[in-house]
Amino acid sequence: MSSLRELYQNVILEHNRSPRNYRVMDGADRRAEGNNPLCGDQLTVWLKLDGDVISDITFQGLGCAISRASASLMTAAVKGKSRATADELFERFHGLVIGDRAAGDPETLGKLAVFSGISAYPARVKCASLPWHTLKAALEGEGC
Ligand code: ZN
Repeated sequence: MSSLRELYQNVILEHNRSPRNYRVMDGADRRAEGNNPLCGDQLTVWLKLDGDVISDITFQGLGCAISRASASLMTAAVKGKSRATADELFERFHGLVIGDRAAGDPETLGKLAVFSGISAYPARVKCASLPWHTLKAALEGEGC
């Protein structure tokens, strides 16, 4: 079990060091900013939409390792997916980080399962979920 925890930790550290899709997007269809004052995490998410599909997603920001790694893994998870699929993933990811295994089964969440240990640290749950709340705000927003 501890080796699984180490593996998860390594994935988080690696995504913090080299976040995926970490850039400002030119010509984005949507943009939203999120911040978590409890930790000082701030990020901006940019989206390009092709009909109902998130054809591209990028982010930039300042924050702790958890929030950066979560944003990085989120962009990889929802790129090319429909809004409905992204909404559903958010519900399941939220279940995972609050420790509701019925809503968020780590077995079905792929790499996002690396955050399954976060539920033991309530103060960090907001760090992990901030990028997803920001994505939701961008999807619900009206343009840039
Ligand atoms: Zn944080």
